[in-house]
Amino acid sequence: MRSPIPDFLDETLDRHRSDRSGENADYIPDLAAADPEKLGICISTLDGVKYTSGDAEYEFSIQSMSKPFIYGLALEQVGLPRVLEMVGVEPSGEKFNELSLDKKSGKPLNPMINAGAMAVHSLLGEPGASLAERTEIARAGLSKFAGRELTIDEHVAEGEWGAAYRNVAISNMLRSYDVFLDDPDEVVRGYISQCSVLVTAKDLAIMASTLAGGGVNPLSGEQVLSPRVNRQVLAVMMTCGMYDAAGDWMTEIGIPAKSGVSGGVFGVMPGQVGIATFSPRLDKHGTSVRGAKIFRDLSNRLSLHIMDAPEPARSIIRRDRRFVDSKGDMVRICSLQGLIQWSGSENVIRAMDDPSGSTNVFVLDLRRVNEINGIARRMLTETLSRLEDDGIRVVLMDPDNLMKCKGPDSDLPGVEIIDSLKTVKGLKRVRDDRRKEMAERTP
Ligand code: GLN
Repeated sequence: MRSPIPDFLDETLDRHRSDRSGENADYIPDLAAADPEKLGICISTLDGVKYTSGDAEYEFSIQSMSKPFIYGLALEQVGLPRVLEMVGVEPSGEKFNELSLDKKSGKPLNPMINAGAMAVHSLLGEPGASLAERTEIARAGLSKFAGRELTIDEHVAEGEWGAAYRNVAISNMLRSYDVFLDDPDEVVRGYISQCSVLVTAKDLAIMASTLAGGGVNPLSGEQVLSPRVNRQVLAVMMTCGMYDAAGDWMTEIGIPAKSGVSGGVFGVMPGQVGIATFSPRLDKHGTSVRGAKIFRDLSNRLSLHIMDAPEPARSIIRRDRRFVDSKGDMVRICSLQGLIQWSGSENVIRAMDDPSGSTNVFVLDLRRVNEINGIARRMLTETLSRLEDDGIRVVLMDPDNLMKCKGPDSDLPGVEIIDSLKTVKGLKRVRDDRRKEMAERTP
């Protein structure tokens, strides 16, 4: 069978190919000279499968799309408190290269605008690290997200440095407010080199799927960012990644994303996929025109808006049946299914509560459950132990040990674990009327 996904991507590119609106970035010579017709896309799954169309292997400089990754690396290196001391997390609503600091704190507003990104760059390496050291840390760090060794395009970097008046002004402003104590020119140069790392849409999609997969690179399996740092990066990217268009982007497209003036855009759907597009002509916010249109298309056609409410957790309880066993005890078998998170566990807890008090044996059947997250497991463990306190015999059917009750470290040491319902002897199904009758008889 030929997968329909590449065809879908071809069609998506074709729909926007003829759109020639916008202009290449003009202040970096190599970007001004880039072929504006290039158009590529790649979607990478969390297990590293890449679907591509168009110029997905064409190399371009990463520019501002480096910012979230370098923010993640700095967070890993010096920790969240130190980074937050230096750079805030508030959307600025301003252009990416605005000369601005937070009025009260004197810090850059967030790490996605140039002021914040340069401050973050200055944290790389040992305090006072050289330009060459920081540049190499940035290049090697970005390579870990891509799963291959990336290179720096020195020509792009030299071109940007040649007319970097705005970024030099920003860096000097940061130095004069003691945001960092390094040489401001070295920080700009390092930041520009970080922006000049070459990637393809394919690389960017892998980098995005590393963020989508909780910080694990799908190709190398390496945990590049810890889950907590990864979450921080995505949250900041979602609120600040598109600068003064962040609100429009999130409401209309709803895929946390980052753009760069080279024409790349990458988007992250946590737990699902990483997506990247490349097309050099930009809108007034510095975002690729066709890139934004393609993202809007994908969001609509593939239902990828992050705020689309997921299916409610009502289907967690597959069956809830009552039986009488050979001793005349009322046995309740509650069978669950799917993925159980906090809201699902609340559902189950509500169902476990039996005000009639007629249950003698409670069997929790987890054979069809794929996963229980940490908090849901703690909620269910606590509820089962309360059932035991009420004198109810609790039995677990949990072949995959999802409740972690097998072995010496069990949170429910007394719990009975069975493999098959045959162990509960002589079960006779209790019909609804008989159940009511029994409930009425219990005081
Ligand atoms: N190197 C570019 C700059 O600092 C990156 C900007 C961007 O991609 N938005 O101006």
